[in-house]
Amino acid sequence: MYCRNCGKEIDPKASFCVNCGVAVGTGNSFCQNCGQSVTPDAQVCIHCGHMLYGGRGYAGSYAGYANGSPAYPLQKSRIAAGILAILVGSLGIHNFYLGYNARGTVQLLVTVLTCGVGAVPMGIWALVEGIMLLCNSTNYDARGIPLKD
Ligand SMILES: [Zn+2]
Ligand SMILES: [Zn+2]
Repeated sequence: MYCRNCGKEIDPKASFCVNCGVAVGTGNSFCQNCGQSVTPDAQVCIHCGHMLYGGRGYAGSYAGYANGSPAYPLQKSRIAAGILAILVGSLGIHNFYLGYNARGTVQLLVTVLTCGVGAVPMGIWALVEGIMLLCNSTNYDARGIPLKD
């Protein structure tokens, strides 16, 4: 593991970087997985593909990551996605929320381009997706990150 602030290798169990003294997870200049420098607003490391996390507010969940239980600070809510699917599913908003943009676009376009006629089948499709979400049949978003219950 590497310090996100200075890029020096640090002990995975350490809570502070011995090189620059910041809390683990603080900073956004280096990848914590490979230690290469990354752009501060990058979500994913261009060198190793590892998910990057912003320093602010992340230090807490990063402690969980270091303890062996992966923490996903950007987890989407299963309940929110399920409710969106059931209430306004024909607009595909739940799929955009989960990152399934292609599926959401199909639902939205069919609904809009048919002046609402297509909203019925799209709504049924989305209703099924909503039920699958709420019944724990859909457990991951488009990035492969587990949904938050
Ligand atoms: Zn450091
Ligand atoms: Zn990396």
